[in-house]
Amino acid sequence: MSAENTPKNFIRQIIDADLAAGKHQRIVTRFPPEPNGYLHIGHAKSIVLNFGIAEDYAGRCNLRFDDTNPAKEEAHFVEAIQEDVRWLGYQWSELHFASEYFEQLYGFAVELIEKGLAYVCDLSPEEVRAYRGTLTEPGRESPWRNRSVEENLDLFRRMREGEFPDGSRTLRARIDMASPNMNLRDPALYRIRHGLIHHQTGDAWCIYPMYDFTHPISDAIEGVTHSLCTLEFEDHRPLYDWVLDNISIGCHPQQIEFARLNLEYTVMSKRKLTQLVDEGHVSGWDDPRMPTIAGLRRRGYTPEAIRDFCNRIGVTRADSTVEMGMLESAIRSDLDARAPRRMAVLQPLKLVIVNWPEDHEEILRGPNHPKNEDMGTRELVMTREGWIDRDDFREEANKKYKRLVLGGEVRLRNGYVVRADEVVRDEQDEIVEVRCTYDPETLGRNPEGRKVRGVIHWVPVPHAVHAQVRLYDRLFRVPQPGRDGNFLADLNPDSLCVIDGAVLEPSLGEAAVGERFQFEREGYFCRDTEDAPDGRPVFNQIVSLRDSWGG
Ligand code: ATP
Ligand code: MG
Repeated sequence: MSAENTPKNFIRQIIDADLAAGKHQRIVTRFPPEPNGYLHIGHAKSIVLNFGIAEDYAGRCNLRFDDTNPAKEEAHFVEAIQEDVRWLGYQWSELHFASEYFEQLYGFAVELIEKGLAYVCDLSPEEVRAYRGTLTEPGRESPWRNRSVEENLDLFRRMREGEFPDGSRTLRARIDMASPNMNLRDPALYRIRHGLIHHQTGDAWCIYPMYDFTHPISDAIEGVTHSLCTLEFEDHRPLYDWVLDNISIGCHPQQIEFARLNLEYTVMSKRKLTQLVDEGHVSGWDDPRMPTIAGLRRRGYTPEAIRDFCNRIGVTRADSTVEMGMLESAIRSDLDARAPRRMAVLQPLKLVIVNWPEDHEEILRGPNHPKNEDMGTRELVMTREGWIDRDDFREEANKKYKRLVLGGEVRLRNGYVVRADEVVRDEQDEIVEVRCTYDPETLGRNPEGRKVRGVIHWVPVPHAVHAQVRLYDRLFRVPQPGRDGNFLADLNPDSLCVIDGAVLEPSLGEAAVGERFQFEREGYFCRDTEDAPDGRPVFNQIVSLRDSWGG
């Protein structure tokens, strides 16, 4: 995470120039989530950007909850968001809630009223909309726009005291109803909301400040130098600046917009993610198929891979949609370097070595990583009966088939070479057993004058760890879910495949929750937080070994 491997983006160039011009002593950024859902990979882009800048410039980055809409916010989201930011590897300089500033915000609203720059408006929400005009037509001024300062102060105080019902009045900025920028047509600064219990302020307030009023002031109070947000706020920047230009606050952060992250085959809006959870389309916010940080963590993603992904996609002002393959390739390269290798058989077929003595067990060792000796070895045990994968055996096959064929030889990984001699079938004519002979001269060396087709993985029957393995596919069937209407119609019905009868090598019996492995020839897997109902451990597929989407 040092400056050397973080690409210079346009925001860092602005900061460099500001520092060179002596504008700031110290860079201050913030990450400002609304606690109305869990963080997702899009938020990670903003987190890596904001915290990464603070780190690289020896500055500060605050975590600030933008909690001005108590109807949708909950305390448990506040907890989950902190956990996710920490897990991603960041520590905030200060933790704040915009609600801490409610009293100060009220004071600044009074200042605007006193300057004739804000007024209490009695129009209903529908009337406000009708008066606003359109992109091609100017708006009309509210009949309440020219109230006296005294009357406005009195009414605003009484709004706070709870005298008026929801929707009956708003406090509005007095800017310009003819502005081509709709955000400047006397935007609301405060609205009345009775009967809500705010997770931080309880029932202390019945008026709540709007985002566009709260955000610039919160930034300024915290001494933020660069307020980074996504492009949809570009049109709000004039209002951000207007608020700060018209109140007595000695700080004016610079708002800079960047393109939000869009990812194929998933959705990122919190409204849609909430719907997936609430309607049970997924098992929760941390379902391993979710694009949430909690989901990716449970799936087995590492914070390093997520940060690497965010740095690889870069920060620009051009909207784009990133291929899921980019995220997968980030975790794949991280795990390729770090994940210990293990053997797991997902579709077991029994192999019996007829020339192996009945109760004989031989301890073997396998390297934890083929390219990293420092990772050491683990114990394997070979027995007369082993499990191999159904896909690794055929009665007949041509030379291209590098696995076990009747009459042919393969090496059992880290063990001996075996030859398949005959098959045993059940009443349904299905092969249930392959009978083999092994060559005792082949541990760690090849037989002379015979060709071994390949190497396959295996698990000793008496010591197998029985597990449930969950394979995942994209949560949606199409790159842009909901493009043709209801996004739920685009859900992939086969996004979860549960394999109940998987068998794993003995060492995996000790795998800790969250521990990640490469199951050789199968993919990368992670022990789930919960066991199966029958007590067997569950392993989630993190990502396949190779990009099977050809992307
Ligand atoms: P939604 O619109 O789905 O509710 P949001 O953008 O309102 O999401 P916030 O909690 O307000 O969510 O976002 C906190 C910060 O994260 C904001 O600065 C926002 O710009 C940034 N952010 C949210 N989504 C993305 C994204 N997809 N890519 C980059 N930054 C994002
Ligand atoms: Mg928001």
